[in-house]
Amino acid sequence: MQKIEGIITNAPKGGATYGNYQIENDTGDVEVQTLYTGVCGTDRGMVAGHLQFAYNPENQEFTVLGHEAVGRVIDPGSSRLFRKGDLVVPVVRRPGDCVNCRIGRQDNCSDGKKHEAGITGKNGFMRSTFFDTEEYLVKVPDQSMKDYAVLTEPTKNVMKAMEVFRKISERSIFTGEDSTYGSKRCVVIGTGPEAYLYAMAFSDLGFSTSITNRHTVDDNRLNICKFFNLQFVDYSTNEKAFDSGIDVVVDTSGDPGTILKFYRKLNYNGMVMLFGTNGKAQPSEISGVDIDLMIERNLTIFGTVDAAKIHYVQALEKLSRWGSLPNSPLKKLITGLYNPQDTTVFTRRNPTEIKAVIKWE
Ligand code: NAP
Repeated sequence: MQKIEGIITNAPKGGATYGNYQIENDTGDVEVQTLYTGVCGTDRGMVAGHLQFAYNPENQEFTVLGHEAVGRVIDPGSSRLFRKGDLVVPVVRRPGDCVNCRIGRQDNCSDGKKHEAGITGKNGFMRSTFFDTEEYLVKVPDQSMKDYAVLTEPTKNVMKAMEVFRKISERSIFTGEDSTYGSKRCVVIGTGPEAYLYAMAFSDLGFSTSITNRHTVDDNRLNICKFFNLQFVDYSTNEKAFDSGIDVVVDTSGDPGTILKFYRKLNYNGMVMLFGTNGKAQPSEISGVDIDLMIERNLTIFGTVDAAKIHYVQALEKLSRWGSLPNSPLKKLITGLYNPQDTTVFTRRNPTEIKAVIKWE
């Protein structure tokens, strides 16, 4: 048994408490000191008891929370890849034994028997230290990324989604006649951390990129938009802003009515990338006209979940680039640092919050 100091919940019932606990030994002998853990909707959903698919590790009546983390190697154990002091990000999903899991693509698990740290059957990283195998740790290339490498986990989702985007876009010529995406338009629904990371990635590809919500946003959000060349649109007052057509819609809201509103503005060969989840959203009807549109315009709607280890590597490259731009506001995506003892972070959300982070050091 291993002693830990951390934040636990009882999945799927919920709750969050900070304290000292005993857990079954982690697998692996690389010892990592946790520096920061991000808080996301999944953590809050678990604490609220809303995620019925969540479950505790075998023989344990609780789960250590947390899947977004960055830490420092304090003992590399038998690893030849890591040295004491290296910064690392742990991989969230651990493979089952389906064909995709066996090739390192547990993000595409085909039977649901994978585990997710802090969510389904594996302890997470909201604790002062953890052990892991080198296979599931990704090295942060630069120590200067310490204060924002916690964004790797949400960014790796975007990198995987971009892989799916590229595969689907290959079915036609998706660029403009000048071979770039300069004439193409991407709209990202939502103004949370994932929406920003998606919008920044599409803007990097060359898309004219908007981020939209049904209300205005604070100055911090507007400043990040300005720096990364994103247009913010409050669609509740300016829906016409999208009348000229959209090539890619990325949804982070999970709201069917809003998704359909933007789907109906898609250009030929356009696509909707579904990423946000909201089981409690109001239903919205799909009509025969919507289906005709999909067929006649060659539209694609697809969902995307999680990512492979390669996408963590790509995410770190992206974050390194974004973070090292002169006067980069990347760190402004992190709008609050919390103590591990302050479990109100799971139940209260500050209106200006983009990403809340727990500091463990
Ligand atoms: P978040 O901070 O809760 O962002 C959701 C955003 O959607 C918020 O800005 C919210 O705005 C906005 N929104 C909600 N309803 C809307 C509507 N009708 N119109 C426009 N915007 C609306 O969450 P996140 O961390 O960025 O993550 C985004 C979503 O992805 C979440 O649902 C999360 O559970 C999901 N997720 C999916 C995966 C995956 O692998 N597919 C992985 C991680 C997270 P308000 O705050 O103003 O309501």
